[in-house]
Amino acid sequence: LASTRCFSKHQLARAGQNFSDYESIHREYKPEVPEFFNFAKDVVDKWAEAEMGGRRPSNPALWWVSEEGDQVQWSFVEMALASKKAARVLSEQCGLQKGDRVILILPRIPEWWLLNVACIRTGTILIPGTTQLTEKDLLYRLKASKARCIITDHVLAPTVEAVASKCPSLECKLIVSQEPREGWLHFNDLLKRAPAEHSCTATKSHEPMAIYFTSGSTGTPKMTEHSHGSHGLGLGVNGKYWLDLTPLDVMWNTSDTGWAKSAWSSVFAPWIQGACVFVHSMPRFEPKPVLETLSRFPVTTFCSPPTAYRMLVHHNLSSYKFHSLKHCLSAGEPMNPEVMEEWKEETGLDIYEGYGQTETVLVCGTFKGMRIKPGSMGKPSPAYDTQIIDEDGNILPPGREGDIALRIKPNRPFCLFTQYADDPERTASTMRGSFYVTGDRGMRDEEGYFWFIGRADDVINSAGYRIGPFEVESALIEHPSVVESAVVSSPDPVRGEVVKAFVVLAPDYASHNPEALIKELQDHVKKVTAPYKYPRKVEFVPHLPKTISGKIQRNELRKKEWGKL
Ligand code: ATP
Ligand code: MG
Repeated sequence: LASTRCFSKHQLARAGQNFSDYESIHREYKPEVPEFFNFAKDVVDKWAEAEMGGRRPSNPALWWVSEEGDQVQWSFVEMALASKKAARVLSEQCGLQKGDRVILILPRIPEWWLLNVACIRTGTILIPGTTQLTEKDLLYRLKASKARCIITDHVLAPTVEAVASKCPSLECKLIVSQEPREGWLHFNDLLKRAPAEHSCTATKSHEPMAIYFTSGSTGTPKMTEHSHGSHGLGLGVNGKYWLDLTPLDVMWNTSDTGWAKSAWSSVFAPWIQGACVFVHSMPRFEPKPVLETLSRFPVTTFCSPPTAYRMLVHHNLSSYKFHSLKHCLSAGEPMNPEVMEEWKEETGLDIYEGYGQTETVLVCGTFKGMRIKPGSMGKPSPAYDTQIIDEDGNILPPGREGDIALRIKPNRPFCLFTQYADDPERTASTMRGSFYVTGDRGMRDEEGYFWFIGRADDVINSAGYRIGPFEVESALIEHPSVVESAVVSSPDPVRGEVVKAFVVLAPDYASHNPEALIKELQDHVKKVTAPYKYPRKVEFVPHLPKTISGKIQRNELRKKEWGKL
């Protein structure tokens, strides 16, 4: 199958070519936000019509590969039709109406995409969740969201049953499974019998479409609400300029279905551009199947978080050839320059970084044609007026550290979250003067590039110096003994706080003398960065605490350090 899908060289040369330079992106970007907008009707159905009229290349809308190598390919016509049937199931059998909240927790299977589109068609509010939730996580999400319906599979069904009695809002359970289950509506069966006609619910651009839980890197995940326009239209900025997608491209984003990053790069951005969404069902990220898939299938565009690239470059990359791959991207955490360099050496490809949040679409990025400054997250996307501000909301000049913020006055950008659902106080706490404050610290340089310093809580203040953990971590990873590290503040009787590094060692170094290695790492950091940033304390650990989405939880380590006092 893979070979039938290969494009001609001529076609490939045309794929992924949306603009020529950074300035033109800003000149060109003039989104129009209509009063009514619905992604299912205005994007999926439009591409289905184009397909029928021969105005789209024969590239599937969804291309799914199972662990065993089975494949499913759906065109936009098939996706439109099946999602209309699924919408009938949601409104008729499940009795759901516009505005009802629906939790959707499925692994990477085609039905997840189908149900995303179906929820949008019915105007119900989609709340994706990750399959890795424990009973406690699930109960928190069901209670916090007051969802009326949960859609999941047989793996999570017992967990849902264990907590359902504590969730009075939960009225309907829909199972996606070959076999029916008592107490659950059976999606697969109902889908087969559902009529194919559905009249899409009228939704206004500013009305709520989805609620995404944040990753929980700094505390309890927040329920971030986005409107139909915000993701359905606004993520076009990601698709066109950062991912650089066209209808000829095949986009593979490895993130779990439970996070906003999936909405970004596995649903809205590629489909707005008419590109193919490629999915491998892998339950967890493992380098070998990922590299094999990149060699076997004509993936043109690949996106994964830094933690995944760190694993990939530790694998034997040179034994793989990626014939179709042209554009690699990373987001979610800062990308270490060392990893970018290794990836480029082995594959010949740069890694283009993107910075954003569950609350936003792309805020900053490196865009094709732009000079990449390793360690920087690129320049602002045209979606927002992005600035570095001080604590009074004043814009700071280049070279000064401050809060990364987006202008929301006089008009809040349509592609910014509308609110933290049911939490007006928290929503209000993100506003300062004319800005939405991201909670991240950064700096702009003279050329307009943005540099991520750290989450506001992660920045270390040692003897009057402010130190961002990322820079120290990136220095450490350049040393061959370091696989990963997390840098946090640690109490010190003289300096108040000092830099402490938790380091995961490469297996070859496990038997080295720890004192000598600590000294070597400290000297190394002093050499490659400003000496005052070196970690006065170093602890070797087998692994780092991470969120389910794979982000380092520095706050856990910090709490432990300060709890020792
Ligand atoms: P929570 O808000 O629950 O603590 P989280 O902030 O990790 O979790 P997400 O919305 O998934 O939840 O992540 C957004 C954050 O990830 C950003 O605010 C930033 O701190 C970090 N981030 C994302 N992309 C980058 C990047 N390219 N460079 C540096 N940091 C990034
Ligand atoms: Mg956050």
